[in-house]
Amino acid sequence: MSKIKIAELFYSIQGEGRYMGVPSVFLRTFGCNFKCAGFGMPRGEMSHEAIDIAATHSMIESFQKYEDLPLVSTGCDSYASWMPEFKDLSPMLTSEAIADRIMEILPHNEWLDEHLVITGGEPLLGWQRAYPDLLNNPKMKALKEITFETNGTQKLTPEFKGYLAKWNSEVGKELTFSVSAKLPCSGEKWEEAILPEVVCEYEEVGTAYLKFVIATEEDRDYALKAASEYRAAGFKGHVYLMPVGGVESVYALNNKAVAIMAMKHGLRYSDRLQVPLFKNEWGT
Ligand code: SF4
Repeated sequence: MSKIKIAELFYSIQGEGRYMGVPSVFLRTFGCNFKCAGFGMPRGEMSHEAIDIAATHSMIESFQKYEDLPLVSTGCDSYASWMPEFKDLSPMLTSEAIADRIMEILPHNEWLDEHLVITGGEPLLGWQRAYPDLLNNPKMKALKEITFETNGTQKLTPEFKGYLAKWNSEVGKELTFSVSAKLPCSGEKWEEAILPEVVCEYEEVGTAYLKFVIATEEDRDYALKAASEYRAAGFKGHVYLMPVGGVESVYALNNKAVAIMAMKHGLRYSDRLQVPLFKNEWGT
């Protein structure tokens, strides 16, 4: 039976993108190919917040579970889902154990109108071989909609691509890739982060959309440049602009400005409802 290293498994409202407002089960896998330490920092500087937390963690083993971890206002807001220092907080679970846990956290202990978000970390990095086993579990049969929240850098293996195409072709099922492609404000390199041919392949098996995190007009310009590169490669999906801000004070500084930017360029605006509603705490 396949196993997946699970950073978090929780029930909340999807706060971003196409399914904003939809009750959702979030399966956060462990591991990422990026660090995104540039978020919320002056250009060229990298956040040390998560590194400092990790140092405290390894010195006094102060954090026993996710809910104990501090939230950060710079860098990757889900740092514990990929930093090796926190790997012990993420158990390796069998697909059966994951399906059982999902049934426990769904309010009616069965799938009704909820959707499944497979997020990370980077969920397409190491677990593609394990997902079919989970999705084939009888407890997952009534699930109708899945979103992979990905950074858009991981190619689908031929086997997984074939599996997803078949899953998506079943009546009433809908597969979505929410692609948060990383702009230079993340601190990641353009040539490693903006990979249009990878994202175009996602569109062969489901619906894909791009979601760019924006803090400044420079970010907007990079988003427009990236969007035109994706379009040139044949990408057909929607493009969203979303304000930077894993904490309320940062989010509130620029959400309106980003909404206005999106309107001005005929792009979609994505909020981050989990920030004003739940302060982006772990498990939301
Ligand atoms: S790609 Fe996502 S999970 Fe990975 S470091 Fe960047 S923000 Fe964090």
